[in-house]
Amino acid sequence: MEFVDRLLTCIDCGGEFIFTAGEQLFFFDKQFKNDPKRCKPCKSKRAGVGLHPGSGPAAAGLSRTETRTECSECGVQTTVPFKPTQGRPVLCRQCFQIKQRAAAPGIATSTVTAELMASSELVPVSAEMLAAAAQAPRA
Ligand SMILES: [Zn+2]
Ligand SMILES: [Zn+2]
Repeated sequence: MEFVDRLLTCIDCGGEFIFTAGEQLFFFDKQFKNDPKRCKPCKSKRAGVGLHPGSGPAAAGLSRTETRTECSECGVQTTVPFKPTQGRPVLCRQCFQIKQRAAAPGIATSTVTAELMASSELVPVSAEMLAAAAQAPRA
């Protein structure tokens, strides 16, 4: 198969660019079905944003952080989807749900809720739990 240089239009900047015979050979070799849509400056601009498929940390499976730790409530071994900070309480799923239920106004009984609301400013763990809740996977 022979290739000749072709003139294509960039979909990003609308400018024309040359799809060289060498590049066409490369595309043919890689079995790419589509012509390039962007000129080189636009392509490198996009590549700089990190759109390289199959080369980021996510593709390498490094974005998933599972850390083995102990529940600071009952001491059971558990894994958390984030890196626990030193001194920060880490709860197993069971303890976490119990705490969450107790801390959620409206679900707890009215007397407990009133008590919790009155003392909420004196319980720093509740803020930590909210942060943990944002990171914990939904059951
Ligand atoms: Zn362009
Ligand atoms: Zn626990």
